[in-house]
Amino acid sequence: MATEYTRAYWENVLSELRPEGRHFIDGALRQATSGATFTRIRPMDGKPGAVLSRGNAADIDTAVAAARAAFESGVWRKKEPLEKKKVMLRWAELIRSHGEELAMLETLDVGKPILASLNVDVRLCADGIQYYGEMIDKMYDEIAPTGPNARALVRKVPLGVIGAITPWNYPMIIEGWKLGPAIAAGNSVVLKPAEQSSLSAIRLAQLAFEAGLPAGVLNVVTGLGEEAGAPLALHMDVDMIAFTGSTEVGKLIMGYAAQSNVKRVALELGGKSPLVVFEDADLDAAAAAAAWGCFYNSGETCHASTRLIVHRSVQDELIRKIEDVTRNDIALKHPLEPSAQIGALIEEEHMRKVLDMIAAGEKEGARRAFGAERVMSETGGYYISPGVFVDLTNDMSLARQEIFGPVLAAIPFDTEDEALRIANDTIYGLAGAVFTRDMNRAHRFSEEIHAGTVWINTYDMSSFATPFGGFKQSGFGRDRSVHAIDKYCDYKTIWQQFG
Ligand code: NAP
Repeated sequence: MATEYTRAYWENVLSELRPEGRHFIDGALRQATSGATFTRIRPMDGKPGAVLSRGNAADIDTAVAAARAAFESGVWRKKEPLEKKKVMLRWAELIRSHGEELAMLETLDVGKPILASLNVDVRLCADGIQYYGEMIDKMYDEIAPTGPNARALVRKVPLGVIGAITPWNYPMIIEGWKLGPAIAAGNSVVLKPAEQSSLSAIRLAQLAFEAGLPAGVLNVVTGLGEEAGAPLALHMDVDMIAFTGSTEVGKLIMGYAAQSNVKRVALELGGKSPLVVFEDADLDAAAAAAAWGCFYNSGETCHASTRLIVHRSVQDELIRKIEDVTRNDIALKHPLEPSAQIGALIEEEHMRKVLDMIAAGEKEGARRAFGAERVMSETGGYYISPGVFVDLTNDMSLARQEIFGPVLAAIPFDTEDEALRIANDTIYGLAGAVFTRDMNRAHRFSEEIHAGTVWINTYDMSSFATPFGGFKQSGFGRDRSVHAIDKYCDYKTIWQQFG
């Protein structure tokens, strides 16, 4: 019988939870070498949460050494493909069977609704591990054309030790996007999760080990970016950094790579994605897409549709519809309420930053249509209601900065050329969308939006089969799809001469 998920059910799961906060290195839990710890504050109510090891360069050294040893020994990379696949599939199943626990760890750390954690984040993490596990025994190398007396093999080989640095907004999903292909390709990994969202990462590594992933292949070092992330990115024995986070830190990561061993980097960075609505669009569909596209996960989504570029003649009607969807469908509630659709922001400092950006926008003359205020402060948690500002121009701060909160900036336009110019007038290029019933225009326009993903008459649809990532200052390199494997490999030629 299906479990009935009530608030009381989840309160009970929470009361029985004993989160693990130590590093996971070489198949074992370890305190930080320095003995230092830090306490996570729960976004849902502002109370102290888990205590975590505060890693530094010494812990990174230990983890990288374990990862290197595992790689060089061949204990994972030389394993029979079928056996490797079985381990990855077991890992995916363990993630699913520990779904409620993982969902609670995620909600505790990041404040998202518990059923979103369970039905979206845990599910997509397991699906990602499974997707890449299934690829392991289906990847072929090449034989290059040569003369008759030679044979040239072009082998796709793993890079070695991968440093993965991840953000707090979709921790398990993004970790699945990185760990899946990196490990399937035969690499070892040292993962430094965001300091706000380490609990699920530690548990994922424990479950991988339980599934049969050899010690040292997946290591997790918790801690702060400057203290644990920077030493990882600067490490001379790390072959690549797979980073997801802000553009600001992404630039530091490129610098660290250049200052150390010219390691490769792949960067998934910020966004300010346009959703363009023409006057002939299905406005109900556009309103639902704009509201969910911007407000899901409390706007803490890199590809959130934060700029609504709307034909002036339909702006008022569209905003009314967006308000209806927001008020009727997108329930902002305590994250343990099963009916919550959105929950808390990540931390007090971030909430204050979002509120400051809203205030600065209003000072510049942005007109509030509804929402965008602190709410539920009596809970002690960090909540902002979804809100829309209208009649903006694209040079205003609400239209330019990545707010990472539930704030939608509506910018009216009069002509198609103007809409395209506004859509592309951003330093980012992660995603975009166009709503119109004119399919010629839809295709013409979607080709011209400079972004890694463009949707037509929808938003945020995707699957593991489609690559995800950005252009411009949204970064480079792609997560998801068969192409993600390439990031964690390189080509090696083996030329054999006969006779
Ligand atoms: P962030 O501040 O850039 O942090 C990302 C990661 O980098 C965290 O693990 C952080 O550690 C670490 N870090 C911070 N400073 C570092 C340093 N000097 N050296 C090495 N590592 C360092 O980003 P965030 O606030 O967690 O996440 C929000 C950002 O991520 C937004 O800009 C969003 O658009 C972007 N994002 C992009 C995608 C995408 O696919 N394009 C997906 C999700 C999020 P600590 O947190 O422990 O300090």
